[in-house]
Amino acid sequence: MRITALAGGVGGARFLRGVRAAVPDAELTVIVNTGDDITLYGLRVCPDLDTVMYTLGGAIDEERGWGRVGETWGAKTELEAYGAPAAWFGLGDRDLATHLVRRQMMDAGYPLSQVTAALCDRWQPGATLLPMSDDRVETHVVVDVDGARKAIHFQEWWIKHRAALPAHAIVAVGAETATPAPGVLDAIAAADVVLLPPSNPVVSIGTILQVKGIRDALAERPVVGLSPIVGDAPVRGMADACLSAIGVETTAEAVGRHYGARSGGGLLDAWLVDTADAGASVPGVEVLAVPLLMHDLEATTAMARAALELAGA
Ligand code: GDP
Ligand code: CA
Repeated sequence: MRITALAGGVGGARFLRGVRAAVPDAELTVIVNTGDDITLYGLRVCPDLDTVMYTLGGAIDEERGWGRVGETWGAKTELEAYGAPAAWFGLGDRDLATHLVRRQMMDAGYPLSQVTAALCDRWQPGATLLPMSDDRVETHVVVDVDGARKAIHFQEWWIKHRAALPAHAIVAVGAETATPAPGVLDAIAAADVVLLPPSNPVVSIGTILQVKGIRDALAERPVVGLSPIVGDAPVRGMADACLSAIGVETTAEAVGRHYGARSGGGLLDAWLVDTADAGASVPGVEVLAVPLLMHDLEATTAMARAALELAGA
């Protein structure tokens, strides 16, 4: 079986672990959001790619959900001592090596997709990880800071401001001209089913969908999505702040309707919501309520099975 998934970081990565456990023999390809990528100290940091790679490769810090297990923070402490401007970003010592290798390869002319494949040689995630695009796309958020309206990098909004500054708009800069990375459209076209994990609908899945050709490719394949909203709140993080920026309510039903039914020009054939949201309905879409909390691998594997069954896969 061929499964293709779109994914952000923590929510996507955890769910994919369940997919791998549910169908160990499936050929799994993951198209990962790169709109969160940021250049810091000359390094190219790709939080979502690295979260998926470390999680599936068994190297993730389980408690934090991102970064390396057994991490130390010597470099970050030193940066803080210098008063470095981006000291708010969590760059761990072990993680830094990943960014150094990536910088070295990118400077040598390798596109991000090939860099990602090289990094995955070490971690063996058991899936093919593809950046959504090799072109630079960066999500920016329009906010008011000290009375002035300006666009700041998504990471600055998310981490430094904890998404507490109301977002007037969220813009994936560069997405309008970005083309899918090699293999992305083929992986969708060849998929028996495309899964939308419980990733952030705006800044993870929503950004991937803006890359030319991806939405059209999805229209040709069965698509099953899982809600990141349970009981009218994000399970973790601040997806509500992203949803309100695009005028979508923070409910499983509203997110399902936002993705929309294939028959109505949207994406979904089926939508999984948590049992807490069992009343949700999305016109034209088969909605099923099952437990959607990824407490452990067993619960996550059951979610993956339910999604695959809905797809008839
Ligand atoms: P990020 O890039 O690290 O923010 O990760 P994603 O975009 O892949 O996923 C973030 C989303 O995962 C958040 O909106 C959370 O609500 C969702 N999430 C995290 N844990 C769970 C869970 O156990 N169940 C469900 N349904 N969603 C979850
Ligand atoms: Ca992310």
